[in-house]
Amino acid sequence: MHVDIRDDMAHPETQIYNHLIIAGPCSVESEEQILATARELAKIPEVKLLRGGVWKPRTRPDAFEGRGEQGLVWLREAKRETGLPTATEVATPDHVELALKYEVDALWIGARTVVNPFSVQQLADALKGVDVPVLIKNPVAPDLNLWMGAFERFQKVGVKRLVAVHRGFSYYKETAFRNFPMWEIPIELTQRLNVPIITDVSHICGNRELLQSTAQKALDLAADGLMIECHINPNAALTDARQQITPDELKQLLDNLSFRSKHSNYVERDLAELRGEIDDIDSELLQLLARRMEVSDQIGEYKKSHNVTVVQMDRWKKILDDHIAVGESMGLTPILINKVFEAIHQASIERQTQVMED
Ligand code: PEP
Ligand code: MN
Repeated sequence: MHVDIRDDMAHPETQIYNHLIIAGPCSVESEEQILATARELAKIPEVKLLRGGVWKPRTRPDAFEGRGEQGLVWLREAKRETGLPTATEVATPDHVELALKYEVDALWIGARTVVNPFSVQQLADALKGVDVPVLIKNPVAPDLNLWMGAFERFQKVGVKRLVAVHRGFSYYKETAFRNFPMWEIPIELTQRLNVPIITDVSHICGNRELLQSTAQKALDLAADGLMIECHINPNAALTDARQQITPDELKQLLDNLSFRSKHSNYVERDLAELRGEIDDIDSELLQLLARRMEVSDQIGEYKKSHNVTVVQMDRWKKILDDHIAVGESMGLTPILINKVFEAIHQASIERQTQVMED
């Protein structure tokens, strides 16, 4: 049985949760480890997806490479017991087949796999016609086109529920981060593709200390969710021990975050852009109004020195008629034009009268 990770607060295209919190160990290590971790995570309402790697891409050989199929059995057990949907990393079509066999609810493509278009294409082909959310991590290299290309390969075979996972990039010099965030790259991606973006703060930070501030930064930049590695006993973890936290620490971290309004990041993001445009236009309008009044004052001075009356009715009628005609051709109603220009004219007259009296 697959567990649905949709809700009505979801992203319009992918139906993926807003503020999707994905938590779980870097690797599924043992039945006890994944069950104990999942039980604690299930007590945290924000956690919607249990992650656990069973095939681990390791930089050097002879390191722990994951429990493989056995890990999937334990992951499924954790789901059955806690009700938490699960996610795991797939790097080959065989992985896809096994993950689906063991009812994994969402698949992620790792940063080392996304760099290879052959692998990505094989995975896309394996997922053709399968309606499962696919989370695409950014490639290790800071190459936006490579990341985009992976999305396009899945889109071409009809996979609809795609999610971007930002996990930072290899960088040419040492930084405080394990993988340098380069926030501008995921931001640019979301401007080009309509996909939710999850920030994998664990792999960006590489240590526990930076998690809180990085998670907040991600949310401030309108991330749609977070991926955070959690382990029942982080110090004993077989992979990525330095960056994993306990479920209790995760709870605390989440409690200390300020989430943006839950109703919809997308609505907020689109509205923020449009509101910004309105603000710019309004400020232009204000400047134009101020300038117009200055010119009115100058005309007032002129009329005063040449001894002509303030109100020149014929001219005003003609101007208003012209404005109404032009306004109508631009889709503006005569009522609006009348109101706006009456108000401007009125203010103008008042100022000119004032000039006359001075
Ligand atoms: C992971 O999520 O455990 C992992 C291996 O991530 P990445 O592909 O981002 O290095
Ligand atoms: Mn990891």
